[in-house]
Amino acid sequence: MKLVGILGGGQLARMLALASHSLGLRVRVFDPAPDAAAAAVAEHICAPWDDVAAIARFCEGLEVATLEFESVPLATALAVAAKVRLAPSVRALAATQDRLAEKQLALNLGIPATPFANIECIDDIERAARQIGFPAVLKHRTLGYDGRGQTVVRSSEEVRAAWREGGERPSLLEELVNFDRELSLVAARTTGGQIALYPLVENLHRDGILRRTIAPAPDVSNAVAAEAQRSTALLLAHLDYTGVITLEFFERDGLLLLNEIAPRVHNSGHWSIEGSETSQFENHLRAILDLPLGSTALVGCSALVNIIGILPDAERILRMPDTHLHLYGKAPRDGRKLGHVTARAPDALLLEERMKTLQQLLG
Ligand code: AMP
Repeated sequence: MKLVGILGGGQLARMLALASHSLGLRVRVFDPAPDAAAAAVAEHICAPWDDVAAIARFCEGLEVATLEFESVPLATALAVAAKVRLAPSVRALAATQDRLAEKQLALNLGIPATPFANIECIDDIERAARQIGFPAVLKHRTLGYDGRGQTVVRSSEEVRAAWREGGERPSLLEELVNFDRELSLVAARTTGGQIALYPLVENLHRDGILRRTIAPAPDVSNAVAAEAQRSTALLLAHLDYTGVITLEFFERDGLLLLNEIAPRVHNSGHWSIEGSETSQFENHLRAILDLPLGSTALVGCSALVNIIGILPDAERILRMPDTHLHLYGKAPRDGRKLGHVTARAPDALLLEERMKTLQQLLG
């Protein structure tokens, strides 16, 4: 039985492991957290990221290694890649785990992205403020997720205060985009270069955390769809990418601005477990093993709603037709993603109704 290694053992690794079983695979995860969500369904190497002996144990017998989050330390990724094939590559990881590298990559490829200025020391702040203007967002260049390490700022004084409070870490000052909506695109590419794209989906965030996704995004213009596909194709080719990748965009006045690239399966793709012929998790595994990709054709319309902080009344959700509950086995904590629900419907109108009921149930 082929063994796939995953760096990171959170809910994404858990859902990858669940998908691996039907392909006859086994999964081993590496995660420093003893209560990693994937540990219930996969072998778990629980050790610090710099534990060389544990990395060697992790790599032993792997067909391929992959990752479920982009903040895996580069040294760990390099150590793994020296022993087994890592997909996506260290190069793809390096290009996406630092917001500056990510923006420069977008600029080089001609992909429109949110205007930004780099801040490495306090003296950079005035220049950045003049260049970007206000309101703006100060973001740590690394280790940010679910809106962490981000502060909305309205003056140079506020940038300085946020910079100090954030530990004076290398950051970007970004224009606060007054977008019409947020969209994302999940794509998969095999080692051999076969590509499959999921449709653009519409995302709603609050406090930097994804709350809801609608698949497919309603009323996407041909120009927007074409631009998202063009950007994805450019990135996949440039990075010689293997696996699933996710591009997050802001749509403003019918144009797209790239916000972020995630070199992995993504929360905005969870609906694909029930809402697509092949889920993002299965297609990621197929991609990294260079197997033929599965169809990304839609099965009706889907809405994904995240369960954050508090566990819902499961029975009431399970009573809803065409609705699927996924719990990650995590202890409730403020702001923590504990699970998600996907509601499916044959058309957008019925989906809207189901989503309203769901949102009431989930508070
Ligand atoms: P990120 O971690 O960069 O994906 O940011 C998380 C969420 O914060 C995004 O999905 C947006 O909802 C919001 N956000 C981040 N950057 C900006 C920005 N430059 N302008 C407006 N909203 C933003």
